[in-house]
Amino acid sequence: AKTLGRSRYEFFDVELRRRMQRRLRLEQDLRDAVRLGKLWAAYQPVVDLRTNRMVAVEGLLRWTHPVHGAVPPMEFIPLAEESDLINQLGAHVLRVTTQELAARRASGLDVDLKINLSTRQLDDPALIPDVERALHTTGLPAKALCLEITESALMRDSALASEALSALREIGVRLAIDDFGTGYSSLAQLQRLTLDTLKIDRSFVMRLGDSADAEAIVTSIIAMAHAVQLTVVAEGVENEMQLNLLRELGCDQAQGYYLGKPMPARELWD
Ligand code: C2E
Ligand code: CA
Ligand code: CA
Ligand code: CA
Repeated sequence: AKTLGRSRYEFFDVELRRRMQRRLRLEQDLRDAVRLGKLWAAYQPVVDLRTNRMVAVEGLLRWTHPVHGAVPPMEFIPLAEESDLINQLGAHVLRVTTQELAARRASGLDVDLKINLSTRQLDDPALIPDVERALHTTGLPAKALCLEITESALMRDSALASEALSALREIGVRLAIDDFGTGYSSLAQLQRLTLDTLKIDRSFVMRLGDSADAEAIVTSIIAMAHAVQLTVVAEGVENEMQLNLLRELGCDQAQGYYLGKPMPARELWD
């Protein structure tokens, strides 16, 4: 038993060391990729459920690693969030996406831009000047830019973050609460935050149709959001049944593989 324990310990040690090395290397590679501007954005359509028109796109960060290929954001965003790298990365997304969208709008495309903000960016003093600069240099109107912040990040009680939020509101950009339903926000908190949009988390949309519970939850989220004048977006719509049900339930907009996958700007528009 003693030797087994020891070899098991050594196995975990080796495994752990291997994982930590990959992590360290990946973090260094990410740092280089950000510095060299190698990260790019894919755009996913957001469709209005009354007109069936694409009214916005969500810009989603993509990293094609020279050796490992596509590294998913679920892997590299948390890595960046552990350090200051997330702020540089966020500034890069802001610059690239506002540029790409403003160029298309200049040739007649009437579509708004949504991008994700990480918690740490709300505490970054460079955020507000970065947003102002991006709008100024591209000519993108503030109201055409919507910043998505997760429910958990918004519910954090931080003085810096609420200052940043009111500064953003003053600039005139839109604010969205992302992945809604995964936290425990109350109607009062929602109202106090004065947001524009609420995004229902994919986990509820996914279960629409085969779970009466999911339908009840989505129904009440929509009622709650509309009570405080928020536009409701459903994410992760993967089939026609979910789309029709969401329309019936009074959801305003939808996004998901059924309506369009995230794509490079050129593929989507050129
Ligand atoms: P999110 O903001 O909730 O973005 C939606 C995610 O769901 C995207 O994953 C999108 O590709 C995926 N998705 C869209 N429709 C469907 C569908 O019908 N089915 C399924 N299964 N998935 C769908 P992605 O691009 O891998 O991004 C994952 C997360 O990484 C995002 O979740 C967001 O939290 C974060 N992220 C991505 N880009 C950025 C960024 O520029 N900045 C920050 N801070 N976070 C980002
Ligand atoms: Ca989002
Ligand atoms: Ca989301
Ligand atoms: Ca999500």
